[in-house]
Amino acid sequence: MTALDIVRIPVLSDNYVWLVHESDSGATMVVDPAVADPVLAAAAERGWTITDIWNTHWHPDHTGGNAAIKEAAKAWGGCTITGPAAEYERIPTLDVRVKGGDQVRLGSHIAEVWDVPAHTAGHIAYHFAADRAIFVGDTMFAMGCGRLFEGTAEQMFDNMQRLGMLDDATRVYCAHEYTLSNARFAVTVDPGNDALAARLAAVEAARGAGEATVPTSIGEERATNPFLRATSAAELGRIRALKDAA
Ligand code: ZN
Ligand code: FE
Repeated sequence: MTALDIVRIPVLSDNYVWLVHESDSGATMVVDPAVADPVLAAAAERGWTITDIWNTHWHPDHTGGNAAIKEAAKAWGGCTITGPAAEYERIPTLDVRVKGGDQVRLGSHIAEVWDVPAHTAGHIAYHFAADRAIFVGDTMFAMGCGRLFEGTAEQMFDNMQRLGMLDDATRVYCAHEYTLSNARFAVTVDPGNDALAARLAAVEAARGAGEATVPTSIGEERATNPFLRATSAAELGRIRALKDAA
């Protein structure tokens, strides 16, 4: 099994679309295309044709490119759009509805679908266990978590606990570059954390140089993410409320 090729495509003001290529089968998948054109261009540049789109949740900055990519894909045999069963009414382009425990394939690579409700009620994540990679949409960010638009602190706490059980090397592919603002906030709620202070300095330097700071890893998040480090849903909820007001 060859490694997946994973390409980060920055779009809109702070979204990341992930382009994932499996060279044995030639399958190419896009996670959460906010828009179509830069994604189609990134694939074409590499000689790849998009065969699949996987959505994590219904928000337009994660699904806005679905229809145009699907239309373009007619030129090479079409593409299949997979996304959360619980949100199919809000993602009219969906072909395949999945939920927690289902498996989805990209060539010989298998991802398990996780239910991670909270940011939206039907939010899902895609975990490639053998590849040590998880696509989390707007559930976890570097040193942050998604806003609780359609769910509770209890649900987000459960999501963080489950993510925190993955091994340290697991790469976390999130959908936004929120790292600097998250780090600056995180040091205010966890001021004694040396790893966090060091990470803030590193992130300030990286962003100052115009560099992306994701994917992150479970190990880094376990050391520095106040939402993952929260020891109760109440604590997570309190930190989330402070961040919302920051
Ligand atoms: Zn969202
Ligand atoms: Fe988003």
